Amino acid sequence: MTAGSSQEQRYLRYRDRMQQIADIRYASAVLNWDEETYLPEQGASFRGRQLATLASLAHERFCDPELGRVLESLQEAEELSPLQKRNVQLSLEDYQKNRKYPSELVKALSQAASSSYHAWIQARKENDFSVYLPELERMVALKRQEAAVLGYQVHPYDALLDEHEKGMRVAVLDQVFGQLRAHLKPMLQAIAGRPQPEDAFLNRFYGRDQQWAFGLRLLKAMGFDFRKGRQDLSEHPFTTSFNPSDVRITTRIDEHDLANMIWSCIHEGGHALYEQGLPEGEYGLPCGEACSLGIHESQSRLWENCLGRSLPFWEHFYEPLQKLFPENLKSVSLNAFYGAVNRVQASLIRTEADELSYHFHVMIRYELEKDLLAGALEASELKDAWNAKYAEYLGVRVPDDKHGILQDIHWCHGSFGYFPTYSLGSLYAAQFYEAMLRAHPELHLQVQKGMLAPVLDWLRREVHPFGRFYTSQQLCENVCGEGLNAEAFLRYARTKYGALYGIRF
Ligand code: ZN
Repeated sequence: MTAGSSQEQRYLRYRDRMQQIADIRYASAVLNWDEETYLPEQGASFRGRQLATLASLAHERFCDPELGRVLESLQEAEELSPLQKRNVQLSLEDYQKNRKYPSELVKALSQAASSSYHAWIQARKENDFSVYLPELERMVALKRQEAAVLGYQVHPYDALLDEHEKGMRVAVLDQVFGQLRAHLKPMLQAIAGRPQPEDAFLNRFYGRDQQWAFGLRLLKAMGFDFRKGRQDLSEHPFTTSFNPSDVRITTRIDEHDLANMIWSCIHEGGHALYEQGLPEGEYGLPCGEACSLGIHESQSRLWENCLGRSLPFWEHFYEPLQKLFPENLKSVSLNAFYGAVNRVQASLIRTEADELSYHFHVMIRYELEKDLLAGALEASELKDAWNAKYAEYLGVRVPDDKHGILQDIHWCHGSFGYFPTYSLGSLYAAQFYEAMLRAHPELHLQVQKGMLAPVLDWLRREVHPFGRFYTSQQLCENVCGEGLNAEAFLRYARTKYGALYGIRF
C-alpha cells in the first residue's frame, strides 16, 4: 500500500468520525429548534435531558484520544489537498482547545448557565439587578478561570474573543471602536439637532396573515430556497441549520409593529442564505462551517441594512407593501416610509437601536466585559458602570434595571466576547457591500426592479463557499483588498444619513 493511499484512508476515518459528531450535534439542533417552535408545554422536562445526553455524547466523541491520534498523524500528510489539510489543522486546533477544559469547569459552566438563566428571569420580573447579581458574580469568576485555562498573550479577554471570532484581539477592537466612537458621536449629535421623520404609522394595526405573506415574498426575492428550509414563528427570531439543505428560520409578528417582522425576516434570511450556501461536500468538517460569528452577522446585516433599508430596495417593494395595507400606507409616500424606517435616535434598548447608535450599545458591553475579565471591574459595580456609560455615550438616563443592565440574555449563557461580533458584522457588511458595488456599479438599477439575484450570486461566489478555509481577516482581505476597518461603514453612514437628514458630514 502506498503512503498516499494510507493517508487518504486515515483522512476518511477522520471524516467519518467528524460526520458522526455532526449528526449528533445537528440532531440536538433539531430538538432545539422544536423547543423554540412547536414543543408542547409539558414536553420541556424530558427535552432538557435528551439535549444533555446528546451534548455529552458529542463532547465525548470529540475528545476521544483516538481522534487526536488520527489528527496528529494526518498533520504531516503531504498527499492531502489544501482543503483537506486545512480541515485537519482546524479540527486539531479545536480538539486541543477542547481538551484544555477540565471536566469540572465544563460542568460548573453549564450549571452556572442554567441557574443564571432562572435568576435572570426572576430579576427581570422583579426589575431588580440584585436578584441576579450573585449568579453573575459566579459566572464572571468562571469566565476568568476559563480565560486562564485557554491562555492568552496580552489580555484575558482575548481568550474569550477567540472563541467567537478566531484571531480577534482587544488591540484591534480598541482601535476599531475608538474610530467608530470618534466619528459616530458627532454624527449622532448633529442628527439629534435635526427634525425627525414621522414614524407613528408603523405602529398602526398590521394583520398577521398579510405580514406573514409579505415576509415570505421578501425571502423568495432574496433567493431563500424553500426546498432547503422553512420559516416558522417563535418568541425570538433565529436561524438554525441541520445541513446546507435544511436551514430553518423563525420570525415574530407584532400586529402593532410592522418594522419588527420585516427587518427580522430579512436579517434571519441573510443568515440562512449563508448556511444554504456552505459547501455540502464538507458536511461535518470545519470547511463546511461558517467562517466566524462576525462573518455570519455580516451576511444578515448586509441584507438587513445595506439593502433592506436602502431606497432602491423600497422603490420596488414599497408598492406591494402598500397594496397589502392600503388603509395604513396609502397616504404615506415612499420617501416618508424610507425616512421612518431609517430614523436615528439614541435609545435604551440594543435590539431596537438604529444602525448608527447600535455600535454604542455594543461598545458599552465590550468595555464592561473587558474590564470584568481583567479584574478592573467587579460584577457588583456593573450596574453603576452601565448606567454611567449610557449617559456618556448615548445621553440617555436608564430608568430601571429592565431597560438597562437586565436587557440581554448573553451573560446568563456565559457568552462573554460575543457582543463585539455584532459590530464586526456591520463593518464587514459595509466592506463587502462596497466591494460588491465596485464589481457591479449597476447593482442599484437591478435592486430597484426587485432583482436581488446578483447580490446572492456575488455572495455565493465571494463569501459562502469557503466555510472556515480562510480566517475572517483573510476572507475580508481576499474580497475587499483590505483588512477589517471602520472606514467603509463610516462612508456608508455619512452618505446615507447625510442625505436623509440634510447634513454634510
Ligand atoms: Zn444575527
